[in-house]
Amino acid sequence: SPAVSSAGGVFSPAPSRSFSLEAATPIRATLFPGDGIGPEIAESVKQVFNVAEVPIEWEEHFVGDKVDPRTNSILTWESLESVQRNRVGLKGPMATPIGKGHRSLNLTLRKELGLYANVRPCYSLPGYKTRYDDVDLVTIRENTEGEYSGLEHQVVRGVVESLKVITRQASLRVAEYAFHYAKANGRQKVSAIHKANIMRKTDGLFLKCCREVAEKYPEITYEEVIIDNCCMMLVKNPTVFDVLVMPNLYGDIISDLCAGLIGGLGLTPSCNIGEGGIALAEAVHGSAPDIAGKNLANPTALLLSSVMMLRHLNLNDKADRIHNAILNTIAEGKYRTVDLGGSASTTDFTKAVACTV
Ligand code: NAD
Repeated sequence: SPAVSSAGGVFSPAPSRSFSLEAATPIRATLFPGDGIGPEIAESVKQVFNVAEVPIEWEEHFVGDKVDPRTNSILTWESLESVQRNRVGLKGPMATPIGKGHRSLNLTLRKELGLYANVRPCYSLPGYKTRYDDVDLVTIRENTEGEYSGLEHQVVRGVVESLKVITRQASLRVAEYAFHYAKANGRQKVSAIHKANIMRKTDGLFLKCCREVAEKYPEITYEEVIIDNCCMMLVKNPTVFDVLVMPNLYGDIISDLCAGLIGGLGLTPSCNIGEGGIALAEAVHGSAPDIAGKNLANPTALLLSSVMMLRHLNLNDKADRIHNAILNTIAEGKYRTVDLGGSASTTDFTKAVACTV
């Protein structure tokens, strides 16, 4: 069976809880099925977890249809509280209405839960051929500030400003996480991705913080790569990269580029890490409104995200079983979803994984 990539791991600097497989009481975790294809792929995870007898009890939360004044978004306070209480969760994609008055759901979750790092592993899947066979890299995205500060205003008619905020505290925190992650997962190199030649103050501060942290990890090679050059290098030869750390917007864009290297957004998982060991896993992709409700979505990205959640909980046996079942199903080829060139539906693929688990 395909090897379990170290890239699937999530390193928590301070895990809040540790569980054993023998745990008598199930672990409560928050589940946001989300919008669009979210409920379909969340159902896949629930089914596979049932078959694999994962000791998780889901606490499901749905996005409201009214703005909750306590969160200033359509995410309710009770939903936020659920993740705060359980310290662990899985999130389906949430659609962001363009230009509406309230805060984006994703921004609300990240800000309110202090989810400061988003870990996005990207590795070639055995047996699924793309231009590259051996991609194995991890993007670590700063998750709370940068271009996503949400501070935008009109200066005068026809002129708007958007503030990119970079702080020393958030930059040090994500850099520290990236180096810890590299060390804990046996990785060799951390590349800081930036545009400090133009954004001298903001990206300049980000780089300064990365350099400071790099000095504490002499065993890890450190390099700095300008974002435009990074894109070219990724497309030409992604194997030159290992762990990449970068400000918010760059991470958002680069990780979609990386997804394209291995077969698309249907395949790439992520996990948001917060203070005190909170972990909220989610697929990199969005709500895919073009295929929602059609039983066409590839649930792999959310399933692999759930595997990251299980590793965070130290449920490594269950994580390995589910990870291998997903990889074997894709490698075998009979039940590939449409995005991977197959004709299997979401439910066909889910059944195939569940039978292999
Ligand atoms: P998207 O990721 O939803 O879709 C991009 C393309 O990838 C589409 O063609 C879609 O069909 C395909 N795709 C995505 N996931 C797939 C899967 N699992 N299986 C098969 N195909 C898949 O990006 P978008 O269309 O730009 O965004 C749609 C909505 O999602 C927007 O409201 C956006 O704000 C939101 N969004 C949410 C998150 C999140 O919740 N973390 C992330 C990105 C986008």
